[in-house]
Amino acid sequence: MSRKSLLVTGIGELNVNDPQAVDNSADPAGRRESRPEPANNTAFAVEDGKIAWIGLAVDAPAADEVLDVAGRAVIPGFVDSHAHLVFAGDRAAEFAARMTGTPYSAGGIRTTVAATRAADDVQLRANVRRLVHEMAAQGTTTVECKTGYGLTIEDELRALKIAKEECDAATFLGAHVVPAEYADRRADYVDLVRGPMLDACAEFADYVDVFCERGAYDEAETRLILDAAKARGIPVRLHANQLGPGPGVRLAVEYGAASADHCTYLDNKDIEALAGSETVATLLPGVEFSTRSPYPDARSLLDAGARVAIATDCNPGSCYTSSMPFCIALAVREMRMSPGEALMAATLGGARALGRTDVGHLALGARADFAVLDAPSYLHLAYRPGVPLIHSVWKNGRKSVST
Ligand SMILES: [Zn+2]
Repeated sequence: MSRKSLLVTGIGELNVNDPQAVDNSADPAGRRESRPEPANNTAFAVEDGKIAWIGLAVDAPAADEVLDVAGRAVIPGFVDSHAHLVFAGDRAAEFAARMTGTPYSAGGIRTTVAATRAADDVQLRANVRRLVHEMAAQGTTTVECKTGYGLTIEDELRALKIAKEECDAATFLGAHVVPAEYADRRADYVDLVRGPMLDACAEFADYVDVFCERGAYDEAETRLILDAAKARGIPVRLHANQLGPGPGVRLAVEYGAASADHCTYLDNKDIEALAGSETVATLLPGVEFSTRSPYPDARSLLDAGARVAIATDCNPGSCYTSSMPFCIALAVREMRMSPGEALMAATLGGARALGRTDVGHLALGARADFAVLDAPSYLHLAYRPGVPLIHSVWKNGRKSVST
């Protein structure tokens, strides 16, 4: 059954992020920066949930419905390519302690593991839905979600199934930390993850991820798990170089990972490796904000030509924000990305980190996932931090949020 067509007009500023124009641009900045359409009065039409026409409003085709956005800016919906939403409990007290001097360590994850194991499926699913809704209300239309707070076969499997059903991409992160009951026999837990746990979860896993970090998994352990994923034909991504320098980024590139996430502590070889690869460097500035840590060197990555995404890393420990506009503001203020680079990284960058060609942009044929801003320009996302600027959000050409 064909759906009603929609014409969006009265657009003050439209950011399309046409991937072909981005890839073919001779201007290096043009490849990484979102730039509004040069002409005012641009309109676009949606048919069957996809962008079917873009042009001057005066030339617009007839449509069943017309949406006049009265001079507001329109951007592609954000693609949040890194989030941990299947959990119970919160760690507000740990956050408060951190703000008064206790440093962040990966071990805090075990607190959430205990709460998550004790929760039932209904509670876990409700938490994911609540957070996905929160994200949507802030302009996010595509969400990746990881497991990693179960750490038993049964608990990881149920988390992955919930992630798969409630989100756009589901990542198996059985190798988040080593659970307390395996503290004295790490190798047994690694064998469990790469064997029976992965066997149980493989069918539902879009990706396999490992927290390759001091206090989590070392290089040899990470390799064993990545090899197991490869053997099953499941693409990989990595938590890499968050808390200090390490092998994570190098391994991500070697294994052809979809993304290397965090990238906070990189040396020149890491940057060169990312720039020479298809692996997306996913930056998570909300984590540095919430752990009071140094920010990644986004400028060096961008200037070297690396593919860059930004995402929230929404999780109860190191960063409990669901807001892509907040992360954009941080990227601009704290990582010296231009507003256009930050918007590109939060949309097309995230899409590329998830291997999606149909989202993160509004070129012809793209899924009609877009946000209308209560602002004349996308620049306001960083210029007006903390202000709710989302007027309405559309997913697949249907209104999903209106404020
Ligand atoms: Zn993470």
